Amino acid sequence: MQYRRMGKSGLRLSELSFGSWITFGRQTDLSSTRSLMRQAFDAGVNFFDNAEGYGAGAAESLMGEVLKDFRRSDVVLSTKIFHGGTGPNDMGLSHKHLIEGTHASLERLRTDYVDLLFCHRPDPNTPIEETVRAMDVLVRQGKTFYWGTSEWSADQISEAVRIARECNAAPPAMEQPQYNLLHRQRMEREYEPVFERHELGATIWSPLASGLLSGKYDKEIPKGSRLDLIDWLRATRTEANLKQVRAVAEVAKELDCSLAQLAIAWCLKNPRVSSVILGASRPEQLTENLAALKLVPRLDARIMAELDRRCPVRAAS
Ligand code: NDP
Repeated sequence: MQYRRMGKSGLRLSELSFGSWITFGRQTDLSSTRSLMRQAFDAGVNFFDNAEGYGAGAAESLMGEVLKDFRRSDVVLSTKIFHGGTGPNDMGLSHKHLIEGTHASLERLRTDYVDLLFCHRPDPNTPIEETVRAMDVLVRQGKTFYWGTSEWSADQISEAVRIARECNAAPPAMEQPQYNLLHRQRMEREYEPVFERHELGATIWSPLASGLLSGKYDKEIPKGSRLDLIDWLRATRTEANLKQVRAVAEVAKELDCSLAQLAIAWCLKNPRVSSVILGASRPEQLTENLAALKLVPRLDARIMAELDRRCPVRAAS
């Protein structure tokens, strides 16, 4: 495992990290969560991702329980605030919800601070200045070391940086976008100038597009798989996506690796990526996905061009 600097910050993240969306608390119990986190950690993973909205807090509670086994300074822990509940002030990025939501997350995670705190989505109903000032309070109070955004537009990120400079507040240090062979536009085109100018880190999510890029959805939706469990995700199993997945599978065959490994290794080739957040519901998946590291040096210019041809940047994705 290698460790990459998160943007221009001094923080080092394992290039592969481990997340908890949908899996923790729904597909895993305490014992299997513990085994998966230990497996990841033993392979060199130092960064674990969470959010207040995952399983309505259940994913944080499970992770918090498991983290008691670890030395706090050995792990980089993140959570994300936005989807805190159904009450009028339980959602979004108001000063009130950011502070209260973070306090509740820290309690569930059984820690005094997270290393990374993300604004899980942009909030059209809160001025960016209010959000920047609230995140600055959390940084100054030591509740988080760095704050960042997730799926904000490039313009919104630039605006947050500008406001932070103006009020001498901590600027965002990282973004958390979706990035995979089927979803390249935002990371590679929209964000490029803003990442270049502000040297933000990128902790990217869904490297397998929720499992599509493992190839297992080619013929059907296997029982108990994510697309079987989550109705709205089934819409991503389009003929266009399946066609591209099949085209990537041919390259994986040539390299004698699994499709999932190729998809993950491809994400790691992008130097803007600070960490690829893996998801896995089972230990075999994690073993397979962690082995993607060995493949990275084999993705030479010819293979990368081949993948570019088969999965070009799509404006709509
Ligand atoms: P992936 O795209 O890699 O999808 C992971 C899922 O794919 C697994 O849970 C499993 O689902 C299936 N899978 C994984 N490996 C394999 C394999 N080798 N073979 C077959 N199936 C496999 O990542 P996620 O979508 O989980 O994203 C990673 C993390 O990023 C999340 O856990 C979360 O922490 C974060 N995230 C952040 C978001 C944000 O808005 N900031 C949004 C989404 C995720 P199954 O077995 O159930 O089919």
